[in-house]
Amino acid sequence: MPSTSDFERLLRGAALRVTRPRLAVLTVVHAHPHADTDSIIAAVRRDSPTVSHQAVYDVLRALTSAGLVRRIQPSGSVARYESRVGDNHHHVVCRSCGTIADVDCAVGETPCLTASDDQGFSIEEAEVTYWGACRECVAAAAN
Ligand SMILES: [Zn+2]
Ligand SMILES: [Zn+2]
Repeated sequence: MPSTSDFERLLRGAALRVTRPRLAVLTVVHAHPHADTDSIIAAVRRDSPTVSHQAVYDVLRALTSAGLVRRIQPSGSVARYESRVGDNHHHVVCRSCGTIADVDCAVGETPCLTASDDQGFSIEEAEVTYWGACRECVAAAAN
């Protein structure tokens, strides 16, 4: 778990001023990967009750555009945030409880980037979401 000074360094590295709300949101996003906005607000306000809802929204937007957090939104889900950025990893989503887990890119080549027909586009990124049932939901269904 990175320390406050690591987060300060991250913010400065992205040319963002170090503020309490930014530190609070970064800490929460690191501690709770794939949390939605409401749970991030609740967790931030548990430690820093003076930080407003709007401030958390603003900070999430600033951190996302600075590339310090990544925003994902599987279809049918609200936006989620995570601090694992820069590797374009994929996600697996449980259809029944909504749990999200990270899935590394297929190793070796990048088959997902090799579109069968690129339609003349220069392709830079492929977004893959796997859907299924998580371990808990599979176990619950088997009982
Ligand atoms: Zn589940
Ligand atoms: Zn992730």
